[in-house]
Amino acid sequence: MTFALIAGLALQAQADFAWFEVEGILTPPTKSAIRVPLAPLERPKRSPIHEWVFPRTVTGMVEGNGEFAPRFRVFRQSLEGKPEEDVSVGVTRFLLRLVEINRTSFRLDHGVEFPSRTVDVYLCDGGDPGALQRATVDKDDSLPGGSAAKVNTIHVYDVKGLSSRIEWARELAHEYGHATLPPVRIAKGPEEWANGDLGERIYLRRMAQALALGKATPSDTMGATLDQLQEYVGKNVTPLVLAAAVQGPRSADLAAGGQEGFDAYLGLALLAESILPRSVFARSLVLPDDQSPSAYERAILAATAEVAEWKPSVPAELAGKPIWIPLGKGKLEGGTILARAGGWAKVTLRNEAVVTN
Ligand SMILES: [Zn+2]
Repeated sequence: MTFALIAGLALQAQADFAWFEVEGILTPPTKSAIRVPLAPLERPKRSPIHEWVFPRTVTGMVEGNGEFAPRFRVFRQSLEGKPEEDVSVGVTRFLLRLVEINRTSFRLDHGVEFPSRTVDVYLCDGGDPGALQRATVDKDDSLPGGSAAKVNTIHVYDVKGLSSRIEWARELAHEYGHATLPPVRIAKGPEEWANGDLGERIYLRRMAQALALGKATPSDTMGATLDQLQEYVGKNVTPLVLAAAVQGPRSADLAAGGQEGFDAYLGLALLAESILPRSVFARSLVLPDDQSPSAYERAILAATAEVAEWKPSVPAELAGKPIWIPLGKGKLEGGTILARAGGWAKVTLRNEAVVTN
C-alpha cells in the first residue's frame, strides 16, 4: 500500500538517516520532526509483550526550547520499499498531529512516569487484526540502576491486512486516546476504559476540521480523506453531541454505566470540547477527583467556575437550538435560560453570549 505520506515535507538527507520537519497546524505554531534511520538497528528491538523482533525504527520528535525531543518510537518488523517511504513514517506523521493537538489544545503531554517520554508503537506483521495499548516495563530500556523502564506501548497487529486508510487513522487515534487522555472507567460499558473511544472521536473530528480548513492534507491522516473523516464524524460524533446538548448530562445514566452511560459520557465530553474555551476544557480533563464519569461531570462545572467569564462556542450542528451548558453559579448574558438542573442550564444563545462568574 502506497500512501505518499511524506508528501509536502522537506527532506534533509543525512549520511545515515532521513530527517523530515513537520510544521504545526494549530495556533500557536509548533514544529515537529521525523527521523528515519536508513539502516536496520544494530540490536533489533523486542516487543515488551510479544516474542517478535523489530529491526527498523522511526522516531517522532517535538520541538521545545529550540530542541527536538522524542515523543514516538515506531518499530517495524519488515519494510516495504525505501525506509523513508514506509508506512511507519506515515504513522509517525499522524501521531505527531495527535500529540500537537494534546500539547497545544489540551495542555497534555506524555507522562513523565515513562522515562523515555515516548509512546512506543509496534507495527506487527502477526496477530489478529486490531490494536492494543498497554503500559508495561521494557527490558530493552533499562534505567541507570539496571531496572527495566516503564513504557507506554501501542501494538497494531496484522498490519499487512490493514488496508483501509480511515481504519488505520481510527485504530491509531483510539489507542493514542488510551495512551494519553485521562482514564475514565464505565461500569459494564462496551469497553472498561472510555478514553480510547473518546480519543478517536476527538482526534478524527479535529483532523476533519484541519482538512476542511486546508491546514492539513490526507498525508497527515494516514491517507484518510475529508469525505471519509466527515462520514466518521457524522456517524460517531455528531449524534452523541446532539444527544448531550438536547438532554443535558444524564447523571443517572453516567452513574449506572452500560452502553447508555458510555454514550452519555462520550457525548458529555465531546459537547464540553465543542462549547468550552480550550483552556477550560483542558482543565476539565485534569480536575476529576476519581475515574468515574460522574466525577468528569463535576469537573466540567469546576473548570467553568475557575474563570471570571467564558464564552460558549456553538458548533454549526447546534446553531439556533436550545442546548444545555454548565452554568453553575454563573450569570448568562446574551442568552435565555429555559430550565436548570444540577448546575446545568438549558439555554438559547445569541452570538454575543457570555457566562460571568
Ligand atoms: Zn479501546
